Amino acid sequence: MGFSTKAIHAGIEPDPSTGSIMTPIHLTSTYVQEELGKNKGYEYSRVSNPTRAVLEKNIAALENGAAGLAFASGMAAETAIFHLLASGDHVILSRNVYGGTYRLGKLVLNNFQLDFEFVDTTDIDNVKNAIKPNTKMVFIETPTNPTMEITDLSAVARLCKQNKFISVVDNTFATPYAQNPLDFGIDIVVHSATKYINGHSDMLGGLVVLNDSALTERLRFIQKSTGGVMSPFDAWQCLRGIKTLAVRMDRHHTNAMEVALWLSKQRRIKKVNYPGLITHPQHRLAQKQMRGFGGMISFDLGSLDRAKTFLKSVRLCALAESLGGVETLISHPATMTHASVPPEDRKAIGVTDGLVRISVGIEDVVDIIDDLKQALAKV
Ligand SMILES: *Cc1c(COP(=O)(O)O)cnc(C)c1O
Repeated sequence: MGFSTKAIHAGIEPDPSTGSIMTPIHLTSTYVQEELGKNKGYEYSRVSNPTRAVLEKNIAALENGAAGLAFASGMAAETAIFHLLASGDHVILSRNVYGGTYRLGKLVLNNFQLDFEFVDTTDIDNVKNAIKPNTKMVFIETPTNPTMEITDLSAVARLCKQNKFISVVDNTFATPYAQNPLDFGIDIVVHSATKYINGHSDMLGGLVVLNDSALTERLRFIQKSTGGVMSPFDAWQCLRGIKTLAVRMDRHHTNAMEVALWLSKQRRIKKVNYPGLITHPQHRLAQKQMRGFGGMISFDLGSLDRAKTFLKSVRLCALAESLGGVETLISHPATMTHASVPPEDRKAIGVTDGLVRISVGIEDVVDIIDDLKQALAKV
């Protein structure tokens, strides 16, 4: 089955009691049991809920995995994943993961004696060199937020298999339409469904997909024990969004490519980061492991002042955190998504004060470029 067909049909059956083609929203906390020990597969909605279960099956199919789990947000999903670890464990992460992942590791989970180490995972030797006797997990993001660095999925999967580490990929930027980490031997894929998967900037959600049954069982146990589950309404919203994921991503890809090409021709812009440009240092690798280069671009205007003027001047592009919605969003990583990262660390990972990030929407691309053009003229 092709991706678009799976997006619309996988795990989705007409409701047996009414024939309703759309999955009902099962707003219930509990389920009546026929007799002691006999139920219809549901006991309590924190453990499982029929609407959430449909989404979990659907995302598993899209990521070519055996099982899916839905959480209240991307961070709730990541929190559950890190609960696979125990006090004293060491985790190696991509140096410019999502700011919230950095914050969770460095400012929350460090209190539980978990050691989070951030390295440049674009070079597998850096990951190898960071290995300690207590290393248990490698967590990467590719493309990374916000500088669009690419990490070699096969190389990470191989290294983790050799050393019995759990490998995790945050696939939020690429989406399952453009990249399936499990196909490369990665153990766990995590998404902020808040972004492209739902795609309409109107809910929060996190999704996890895996193949290994022991790991799945453990994570389901953690999910019901910690309780950060996705609500039935959000699961329904997310299922609705996924039906158009393929067509939205096609447009995000073509629009982003045009915007990146236009940006790279502007004298006032120092640097454009987009994996689809042949000038991107890992364009080849992106081509190898992705189908399309995503809708995210970042570019450097050279200083905080210039970035400020630019961001104040955009009209169509909305100045906001988040990404992956149908509308174009523009943001300033150094003061917004990466504010928790200390200035010297920000500098090291390329999050300069002049860096602007754009989540290219699915509007008419001429309108997006016209807006960027008039804002750039004011810089
Ligand atoms: C937004 C985001 C997250 C966190 O997801 P929430 O749904 O906001 O909790 C994690 N990783 C990436 C790459 C993100 O963009």
